[in-house]
Amino acid sequence: MYFIDSHCHLYLKEFQNDWKKSVEDALKNKVEKIILPNLDSTSILAMNEIADAFPNNCFPAIGIHPSSVKKNYSEELKIIEEELKKTKYFAVGEIGLDFYWDKTYIKEQKIALEFQLELARKYGLPVIIHSRNSMDEIIEIMKNYEGLTGVFHCFSGNLKHAEEVTSMGFKIGITGVVTYKNSGLAEIVKKINIENLLLETDAPFLSPIPHRGKRNESAYIPLIAEKIAEVKNITIEEVEETTTRTAEEVFKI
Ligand SMILES: [Zn+2]
Repeated sequence: MYFIDSHCHLYLKEFQNDWKKSVEDALKNKVEKIILPNLDSTSILAMNEIADAFPNNCFPAIGIHPSSVKKNYSEELKIIEEELKKTKYFAVGEIGLDFYWDKTYIKEQKIALEFQLELARKYGLPVIIHSRNSMDEIIEIMKNYEGLTGVFHCFSGNLKHAEEVTSMGFKIGITGVVTYKNSGLAEIVKKINIENLLLETDAPFLSPIPHRGKRNESAYIPLIAEKIAEVKNITIEEVEETTTRTAEEVFKI
C-alpha cells in the first residue's frame, strides 16, 4: 500500500529549484500520489509542468483560491472555465471563503465560490474547499449544492462543523496541525470516523512536528498518519489503507 497527499502546492517558489527531488523523496516515503490544488491563473503553468512530469503521481485541480479573488475575478473565472474545457483536471479547487486574511472582497469571494461550484457540478468533479473563519457561511452555501462531493481541506472547524460536513458527504483534510499541541484537531480526529478523513500536507506550509517551522514536504505524510493512528488507537496501516482508498474514490485517481 501507499499514502496520498491530498493537498500540496509543489509549484510555489519554495519548491522552484527542487520540486522533482521533493516528489522523489515523497515516493521514497511511500507517498505515491499527490493532489495539486490551484491558486489562480498565475500558478496554472507551473502546476501543469509538474503534473506532466509525473503523470502517475501528480494530479492537478483547477480553481481560484478565495485569497486570489480580487477586482479582476471575472476574468480569472473565465480562465478557469477555459482550462476545464481543454485540460484534464481531477477536482475544482481550491475554492472557498477566507475571511481571515482580507475581507475586502467578501461579496466577490461568494460569487466566485458559487460559480466554481456550478462548474464542478457541470463537469462532475469533486471540490477542494478552503475555509478560514468562514465555516458557517460555507456550510450554508453548500446546502444548495447537494450531490457535490470533495474535501474540506486543512480542516479548522469545530466538532459540530466536522459532523455537518461529513453528513453532507464531504471528507475532512487533516494536516500536520494534528501534531501540534493544543491545536484541538486531535480531539476532533478522535471522534470522526477514519473513513471520512484524508491526509494532506498543504506544503510548503504547516510542517508536522518535528519539522515545524521548516518547509513542508509530501514526504512527511506518514508523520500525520502516525499521529492519527495514535489518536484513534488503530494501526498506521489502517490509516494508510483507508485514507488512500477514500482519496482514490473522491478524486478518481
Ligand atoms: Zn492550499
